Amino acid sequence: MSELLPISLVAEWVYCRRGAWLAHAAGAFQANEFTVDGELLHARVHSGGGGWERGRRQWRRVPVGSRRLGVVGYADLVEEGERGLVVVEYKRGPVREREGDRVQVALQALCLAEMTGRPVPEARIYYAGSRRRVVVPITADLEAKARAAVQGLREDLADPRPPSGRPGPRCAGCSHQGACLVAADGALRGFRWREWVE
Ligand code: SF4
Repeated sequence: MSELLPISLVAEWVYCRRGAWLAHAAGAFQANEFTVDGELLHARVHSGGGGWERGRRQWRRVPVGSRRLGVVGYADLVEEGERGLVVVEYKRGPVREREGDRVQVALQALCLAEMTGRPVPEARIYYAGSRRRVVVPITADLEAKARAAVQGLREDLADPRPPSGRPGPRCAGCSHQGACLVAADGALRGFRWREWVE
C-alpha cells in the first residue's frame, strides 16, 4: 500500500505543485503571518467540541481518511444536513475562488461517505474574513478533479526534483519562499545592476 497523503497537501498541490513538493519532500514548511492566522482560526473552531446547533448534530475536528483514495486528514466540522452529512472547512480571509479549497472539501466528503456509508452530497467553506459559508456541491466533475490531484501529487513526490514554478501574485503569501527561490530568481532577472550603482 502506498503512503497516505495529507488532504491539505493535495489542496496545496492544486495551488502550487512546487510548493507542495517542497512542503512534503524537503520539509520546507515555514510559518508566516498567514499560516499562523489560519492555525489560530482552526484552534478556535476545534476547541468548541461537538453538540447540537439549531437542531442539528455537529462533530468538530473529525479524522477522515480512505486507503482506497490514499488520503488522510481532518474535517474541521461535520454536521447533519437534510440530505446527509455536510463537511465544513474554515478558511482565513475573504471569500475567494480557489480550486484547492474545493478539492480539499471534496476529498473530505468522499472519505466521510466511505467511512460512514452515509451520503455527503455537499460541503461548505466558511471564509472568516467575510463571515460567509459557500456551498460546494460534490459533483462527479469535482470528484474527478480531486482524484486526479491525488494522483498528480503522488507522481510529483516520486520525482527527486521539484516541479518548476513561475513567480506570480500567489508567491507573495507563500510560506515556502525561502526554499523555493523562484520569486528571488524572477527578481534577480529583472534587476538592473548598472542602473542601481550609477
Ligand atoms: S514561492 Fe511561488 S512558485 Fe515558489 S512554492 Fe511558493 S507559490 Fe510556488
